[in-house]
Parts: sequence; C-alpha cells; structure tokens
Amino acid sequence: MTFSDLGLSPKVLSAVTDAGYTQPTPIQAGAIPHALLGKDILGIAQTGTGKTASFVLPMLTRLEKGRARARMPRTLILEPTRELAAQVEENFIRYGKNHKLNIALLIGGVSFDEQDKKLERGADVLIATPGRLLDHRERGKLLLNGVEILVIDEADRMLDMGFIPDIERICEMIPFTRQTLFFSATMPPEITKLTEKFLHAPVRVEVSKAASTATSIIQRLVKSGSKPWDKRETLRNLMKAEDAELKNAIIFCNRKVEVSELFRSLLKYDFDAGALHGDMDQRARMQMLANFRDGKLRYLVASDVAARGLDIPDVSHVFNYDVPIHAEDYVHRIGRTGRAGRSGKSFTIATKSDTKYIDAIERLIGNKIEWHDGDLSTVVASEGEDEAPRRGRGAPRRAGRKDEDRKDKGERKPRERHAKPSEAAPPEAAHDEQPVAAEATVADIGERRARKEAIRSENTERKADRNESRTPERGDSRPQRDTNRPARHRQEDNDATVGFGDDMPAFMRIVAKV
Ligand code: AMP
Repeated sequence: MTFSDLGLSPKVLSAVTDAGYTQPTPIQAGAIPHALLGKDILGIAQTGTGKTASFVLPMLTRLEKGRARARMPRTLILEPTRELAAQVEENFIRYGKNHKLNIALLIGGVSFDEQDKKLERGADVLIATPGRLLDHRERGKLLLNGVEILVIDEADRMLDMGFIPDIERICEMIPFTRQTLFFSATMPPEITKLTEKFLHAPVRVEVSKAASTATSIIQRLVKSGSKPWDKRETLRNLMKAEDAELKNAIIFCNRKVEVSELFRSLLKYDFDAGALHGDMDQRARMQMLANFRDGKLRYLVASDVAARGLDIPDVSHVFNYDVPIHAEDYVHRIGRTGRAGRSGKSFTIATKSDTKYIDAIERLIGNKIEWHDGDLSTVVASEGEDEAPRRGRGAPRRAGRKDEDRKDKGERKPRERHAKPSEAAPPEAAHDEQPVAAEATVADIGERRARKEAIRSENTERKADRNESRTPERGDSRPQRDTNRPARHRQEDNDATVGFGDDMPAFMRIVAKV
C-alpha cells in the first residue's frame, strides 16, 4: 500500500513525499481512510508507530475546505505535555507546508499574550495542553463551539497525569457533532469508560496488542546491588560495554531527584550527559532536548513525565536506571528506541527489591525478559544492605567517603552529620566514585560547568514554573495539586526534599575555614 491509496489530498501527498516517507505505517494505513470519512477513531498504538501522522495527515486534508474565525478554532489537539504539543506543531508545519494554515500552540510556561494574538487571528489548528486551554477559556479568549475535529492523544498518559476531569470538561464544551480521534498506547478501564462516553461508533484501529513492545528492541535485565553507588557502577559498566554500538541513549530514573543525582555523577565521570525532568523550565527542557536530538549530547537522563512520547528518531539505547513502578511506563520507556522499524537495545537495571515490578512488566508484555549476565541469584549484597538498622554511630566509615557521598548526592545540607541509613555507604564503596577518564579538555570542562550551571538555575526557577505532574499544566498562573489523584499517579510528587534540597541558600555552600 502507498500513501496515494489512502485518499489524502495532492498537497498532503506532496509534503509526505518531501518528508521521504513512501509507505504508510500500519496505524496510518488503518486510521487515515476512516478519519477522512469523518468517522471517530479509537487508535491503540504505542509510541514510534507513526501515530502522529495518522491524525495530522487526514486533518490537513479535511481542513482544506473552510476557514477559521476569530477565537473559534476549527480543530483541537490535546496533548499531555508541552513537548508533545510542540512536536505535534512541528508535524503540522512539516506536512502542512503546502497549506496556509494558522496554527496556535497553547502550552504553559510561556506568556498568554502571543497565544491570545494567535487565537484572535483565528486558528485552523489548536494544539494545547488541557490546563492552559482551560485557562484561556476561563479568560474568555476562546470559544470551543466551532471545533469540528477533536484529537485526544496519549490518553493513558493524560490519565496518569490526572488530566481526565479536564478532558471530560473540554469534551463537554465541544459540539456533539464533532469528529473525535482518540489515541492511547494502553486501555486501562478508566480510558475505556472515557471512550464509551465521548466516542460515537468509533472505528477501532489496533496496530499491536495493547502494551506490547516493539519486536525490533533487544531487551535485557541487568542485575545490580541495590545501593545507589552499586547501580551507578552497573550503569557505567554497561555504558562502557555498549560503547561501540551506542549512538545515543536515554537513561530513565523513577524520580526527579535521581535524575539530578545521576546526571551529576555521570558528568563527574566525563559522560556527555544532559538531564530532563519536570522541574526544569520550558526553555531549558526544549534546549536540552534539541541538543540531544541534534547529537550534541550523547546521553539524556530523564524522568517519565519529561520524556513520555517524545519523538527522538534514532535512539540506539534505553537504560532503565530504575525498574519502573508502573509496568506501562516500561513500554513507553523502551518505545523510545526501535522506532519506526529501526533496531534498538534496552537494558533495565534490576535489584532484589525490584522482583515484583519485573513480574508485573513481564505479565504486561507477555514475555520473559532475558538477563544480560546472570540473574539476581548471583548478586552478593553490598555491605550494609539489609543491615541498615545495625549501622549505628560506631559503624566504621572510611575517611573521605562522606564528602564523596555528599558531592554525589547533590551537595545536601553541609551540617548533616549522619547519612540516612538508606544512603550510608559501605567502607569499600569509596573506590567506586573515582573518575573513569581523568582527561578532559578545557572546552569540555567549560561545557560541563555551563551545563551544571544550567541545571542549578533550572532548579531555582522551578518555583515559578511548576511541572506538569505536580500541577497539571495550569500551574503557570495558579499552582494547585490534584489531591484526588490516586497516589500511583503522583510518582514524581514523591521526591521528598531533603533539607533545603537543591534550593540551598548560597551562604550555606561557603566552606568554613577552621
Ligand atoms: P510517532 O509515532 O508519530 O511519534 O512517529 C515516530 C517516527 O516515525 C517519527 O520520527 C516520524 O517522523 C516517523 N514516521 C512517521 N510516519 C512514517 C512513515 N510512514 N514511514 C517512516 N517513518 C515514519
């Protein structure tokens, strides 16, 4: 089958040809003909399957008739994160290059004024995150009764982020006669309920079993001791072992605090790494992502919220520094590699306490994941592992370890005399944090410093720019927390700050002379 068999307009076909795509992917072949006929679609597709084009291309064709009116967008695409929304905009620009369409992107973290102007001009395509959309609507700048096509993308992600009540509100504001295109990688019961309420006789297009992983990805579990320094060492060894085949990699952590800690540790070991998490301001996130996409950074340490659904074509490796707590996140994480038929590798670092999460992942994907180099039965517990309560005041510590520890922990409170039991390092661990490559050029060091500085300033800016998981998008103007969300939906909220966390006042960093 070719694109010209699908019923797309000549203008769209020409843009697709220019993009270099010759054959539609299965989700495109399955969804586009029905979408062009105005039918509702329920698309079950994992990331990397070409699902964005499966709604952008038919929308462009349908938008060729008619024009937009001020403050009354003709189509609306809802995305869970700002990055995804920006990516969809890029797709409209790329495939809509032969059209004269007004596109408005309504996302948090940027000023309302520019967005107001675009709405005032009349938007053919409105791409928005739910919170910012509702903010505009409440300010009286937006009317949704002209929307002819509604796209709800990454619905399961919306659920995880607590957006479902917002989505329900938005759906109720849009005329019943609209066409709805609905996409989700997985179909938990809450999502099924939503589709039953808001879709009318949808055509179901399922390109692969829900929550399945692409077959082009080699997946391995890697045993590790459970202490942070054990895991970091396991990761570094893996990265070195994979070096020849590794073009670029995303390294996933479960929590923002781990993203920051691991990022700092990797920089210390001269790995060319950047970090992406929900507390970074929008500009810094986009810049970091652009650097990674353009090959200026080889490694990106990321949290799920920051990285879900990002279109980074050609990632060769995914490392799960932590086993994800929610099995579906595993599917999304490893879906960052092996995209659009390319091959990829994923390594998941597993400790003894991760067994139940691994079981859940294997149940979800319907496969056992192979161990890379023997399973956990051969892991010798680090000293202190499972013995934390016994490590009392008199427990021996090697001189200097505390400083290493503190450095690697992101310079926690200098007055903290005793590490928490869970963070206490074994005496042998001191060797672990020796840099692997001592040679770094002045330029490297300068660049690394700049990156560290960027992270520091991002952290201080975070109060002004709340992340999506804490305050689903609407936080730019009025931070609030969705306390009704089940705890499992607030994974990133669990990053208990220790002491001042990263917001430690500068005077406390001054080294006292004694
Ligand atoms: P998505 O699932 O929409 O994030 O798309 C994943 C990747 O596949 C993106 O880099 C797209 O540019 C690419 N892509 C989309 N459609 C096609 C196609 N028909 N052939 C090859 N690559 C495609």
